[in-house]
Amino acid sequence: MSTKRRVSSAARLILSQVAGLLASMVVIAGATYVATLLMFEGDMSAPPTTPYLLLNLIYTAVAGAVGGWVAVRIGGGRLFPALLLGGIVLLLLLAGGGSPAGPEIPTWYTGLMPFFWAIGAPAGGWLGLASGPSGGAAPRVATPLWVVLLAASSLHPRAARAQSPALPGEFRDAPSAFFPPPLDPTDASLVPQEIGRGVWVLRGDRGAVDNVGVVVGEEHVLLVDSHTNARMAGLVREAVARITAKPIRYVVNTNRHGDHVFGNASFPEAVVISHEGQRLDSAAFAEEKQVLAAFIGTSGYFDDVEYRGPDITVVDSLRIDLGDRHVVVEHAGTLNSEGDVIVRVPDEGIVFSGNLLTETVVPLLWSGTATEWVAFVDRIASLEPRLIVPGHLGPVTPDRLAGMRAYGGWLDAAVSREVAAGRSARDVGEGLELDARFLPPGPEILQRVVRGFHALNALRTAQALAGGAPPTR
Ligand SMILES: [Zn+2]
Repeated sequence: MSTKRRVSSAARLILSQVAGLLASMVVIAGATYVATLLMFEGDMSAPPTTPYLLLNLIYTAVAGAVGGWVAVRIGGGRLFPALLLGGIVLLLLLAGGGSPAGPEIPTWYTGLMPFFWAIGAPAGGWLGLASGPSGGAAPRVATPLWVVLLAASSLHPRAARAQSPALPGEFRDAPSAFFPPPLDPTDASLVPQEIGRGVWVLRGDRGAVDNVGVVVGEEHVLLVDSHTNARMAGLVREAVARITAKPIRYVVNTNRHGDHVFGNASFPEAVVISHEGQRLDSAAFAEEKQVLAAFIGTSGYFDDVEYRGPDITVVDSLRIDLGDRHVVVEHAGTLNSEGDVIVRVPDEGIVFSGNLLTETVVPLLWSGTATEWVAFVDRIASLEPRLIVPGHLGPVTPDRLAGMRAYGGWLDAAVSREVAAGRSARDVGEGLELDARFLPPGPEILQRVVRGFHALNALRTAQALAGGAPPTR
């Protein structure tokens, strides 16, 4: 045999193996894509069309290539080693905390990802065997490639979400439809909007990134919430400096959630005010870090967060004089959190409502019920505000309150019917579909968040009706 012929037959062998590798990867990636498509009912504009889906396709496909190689080369034509490999992969992934999760990926999908990867190996093994001794066999490069991908996934900050933190109880009990709002402040900025004389909202410019309220008096400046971390609090300070030279004297925390309180330490000159029920001690900060890390999918942006609790706690209400005007901090009940407060600016008819409502008509009642929320909406209406400024998304005019009351009333009645029919609170949270008239127009992700909020509201309302004490935040 001539050298030339030996080279060309070696080249053919390599080519056939590369072709086999690519073919099995394409087949398995395609099957994974179709499975995902079916799971999301054809709606691929929905969240998983992010790098996570691509990551899933790549992992599953490479697992298939390795499975093919194992079945043909090590198994000597038997599928068993590839099945064993799939099982080991599954056990390792589940023991390691599952797969990368992200705020835009539903947890049920990320929960399935290890199974995709594990099924890839025997599927590739079967393909390898079905296509003959060399055709489906992956070349040796597939194994190190796979190892490198797995290692990279555990080192890459986005994929380090695999080690998701242990969640506090009230988060674990959320219905499966619950979908965290996109709160990740990475690269976000704040857009100042003047909404009254000396009253501003600094609006988060992406997703549901928090807003901060600014009220400027003759002598002092008051902030409504301190944002998600020190970087965002720094942006708040810069924005206030462009509005006024007066000092920031007060920071009010409308609830205890991290995205409203983690900037507190960045305003050492200010008096921090929260509600008595928030119990904003350092343990609460640590717990909020866990919850927000799970919400946002990473804890990297917490590195600059230091504990700073309240200097003053309010029980019912507190009137604060800013010089020529006053604001009122008022307890609003236990709805989104234990110890929600609103901040009123009476001379401008503005109410900062924290997390108690948004421009959609569906709130997030972590800790309250539909009945209590309707009473809150009525109370806001009775104040006859000109404008309501939520902690997330845009300002709301009072004509929207009727829609909120309608949702609360509908939820109350629907849950009561379900509970009277003998359904458990858990079943109500999982099964009570949101009436389409309460869905906001706009992007699919917003609708998904709203459906998830609704599922939690249904669960909490049913839990209260059934007489249990729902967990609070
Ligand atoms: Zn919030």
